[in-house]
This record gives sequence, structure tokens and C-alpha cells, in this order.
Amino acid sequence: MADVMKGIDWKTFQQLRGSEKKEYFTRDGSIFHVIMSQQFDRQFLDEICELTTKIRGIAKGNKGVSFLQSLLQGKRAMLYFVQPSTRTFLSFMAACQILGIQCSEVRDAATSSEMKGESQEDTVRTFSSYVDLIVMRHPQSGFAERIAFLLNQIRRPVPVINAGSGKDQHPTQALLDIYTLHRSFDNYGGIDGKRIAFVGDLLRGRTVRSLAYLLRNYRGVKLYFVAPPELQMEEDLKSYLKEQKVAFEETNTLEEVIPSVDAVYMTRIQDEYDKAGESKRIDYSAYYFKKEYLKILPPNAIIMHPLPRRDEIPVEIDGDKRAIYWRQVRNGMWVRVTLIAAIFRKDKDIKEY
Ligand code: ASP
Repeated sequence: MADVMKGIDWKTFQQLRGSEKKEYFTRDGSIFHVIMSQQFDRQFLDEICELTTKIRGIAKGNKGVSFLQSLLQGKRAMLYFVQPSTRTFLSFMAACQILGIQCSEVRDAATSSEMKGESQEDTVRTFSSYVDLIVMRHPQSGFAERIAFLLNQIRRPVPVINAGSGKDQHPTQALLDIYTLHRSFDNYGGIDGKRIAFVGDLLRGRTVRSLAYLLRNYRGVKLYFVAPPELQMEEDLKSYLKEQKVAFEETNTLEEVIPSVDAVYMTRIQDEYDKAGESKRIDYSAYYFKKEYLKILPPNAIIMHPLPRRDEIPVEIDGDKRAIYWRQVRNGMWVRVTLIAAIFRKDKDIKEY
């Protein structure tokens, strides 16, 4: 384990900036833990996109499928998902299967020894003795980060992938979103210079936060935060963008921004975080993508959604070629394959295939 962990305590570690934490998530210069979007740079993002496209090509033939399955045969992963999830859980499980990794799972802390009073840290530490990889979804912000820190401290070389940590981050969703944007704008100058509207519950939507952090890696992008005033983006992220010189604008009128964007990223209201049903008092319908907006959305623009959706995007829109949320789902599985392969240093084998 990298010596850099020596002599730093959790409190000091927490005070570091995301970019400063990067070295703790890396091992011998390669990606190890996947915890937060601030740890990724442009070179890494470009490589992930390139490798994902290569893997998809490899997986088209039987020989390629067997090659991919041989890459991490004998490895074991623990999917520790103690917050509701189906698509991300299955996406990771499929990604592991593609690479020949066997999975075990915990979906409910109530069935583990946590019910006997064990701390979650001890529970996860126990799992780390059985597996080579931990993929973790947790309702608490920063929990995956804490586990990665702990495993580093005890020098147990098991990588942790954050598959969603409370309202805070969902870095693998952001990576798949970047891959989707990258593919969609392949013939239109790439992601640089694009205008992206984030719509809905930006206060509690972790996918938007993680993607906004990643977008600082692209030149000349402009972000529009379209949300009811009560659910606008948090100050911490806005100051980060200011500091990184990423242009952004806040508004509460969706219709006005649609004609001038390259991508619209819709999100559902995250009412599971309500303290006293406060979401019910918000008229969220003003943040739905209405069918008539298709006429004012530029012809090469795209409509994204991390899913699950409620009424933010009516199903009639699914048929429009600019609606690419189902493609995002599929891209997610392949990006996760790439990420896991890179963590285990199989990127070179894939490149050479
Ligand atoms: N699936 C995404 C997440 O886990 C988006 C959502 O739940 O609204 O954050």
C-alpha cells in the first residue's frame, strides 16, 4: 500500500481538497479507489472513453467475450448496496461477470452483524478479508471514502468503488455520462465548448454534482442549473466551479434555456431525503421536459436522465432520436467494465488485444 497514508488521520484527511485526496486513491500511479469525481483528470477521462469503445468492440465476438472473461477470473467482488438500487447494482454485477469476477452481495444492513451492534466499518473490514473488490452504495455521504481510508490505513489492498454515497457523489454515473456525451458529440467537436442544462432537484441529486465536477476538465463548457429556488445547487459546488473558471448560470425557467443547449440532463425529485414531506410543497411539474420542447431543442442536442424517471420525461419522448437515456444505461455497464479492468491493471492487455 502506498506509504502516503502513513501519519495522516481521518480528520486531517477530511480537510484535504478533493484534488489533494487523489493520491490516496491511487496506487503506483494507477487508479485504485474510485471515490469522487475530483480525483479524475482529462487524460484519465479520455483514456476511459477510448478503452470503453475498444471493449465494446471486443465483446462483439465470441473470442473477445472469452478473452474479457479470462481477464479477472478467480477474483471476487462484494456488492455492498445498503441503499435502494436495481440498475446500478445489476450494472456492476454484469460488469463483473463480463470480466469473469464472481460477486457476493449485501443489500440490507439488517441481515448483517450490524444488527448485533457491530459498526459498519467493522462489517466492511470483515468483508474485505473475503474479496478483491468492494463496490459500495450507502445513504451516508462520505461513507465509501471512509472505508477506502480505513482499508488504506490497515494496509489491506482492496479497492473500493463508490456506487453512490448519499446526496454527495455518484462518480461511476458521472463517468458513464461523460462517455455518453463524448460519443454523442464525437462528430460535433467533442464535449469542449458544450452547453449543458441540469434540471430538477440539484440540491440533493448526486449525479449532477459528480458530473459537474468532471466537466471542469473540458474547455469552454457552460452549465445551466435549472431548479426551483428551494432545490438549487449547493454553494460548495458553485464555489468549486467559480474557482475552476467553469461558467454557470442559475435559473428556474426551463423553457428559456432549451433553445440554447447541447444537452439537457433531467433528474427526478429526491424526496427520500425529505425531512417532513417538504417536496410536496414544490410544483415540480415546471421541471418536466414537455413534448412541445422537442420543437425548440436544437437538432443535435441530447436529452439525458440518470434514471429512474418519474414524470420528468413523458414516454412519448423516448422515440425521439435525441432521447438517449436508454443508451446511457447500456454505456454504464461498459464504462464499469473498463473501470474495473483499469483498477486491476488490465488496460494494457485490452489495448493490445
Ligand atoms: N440512480 C441515480 C442515483 O442513484 C439517480 C436517482 O436515483 O435519481 O443517484
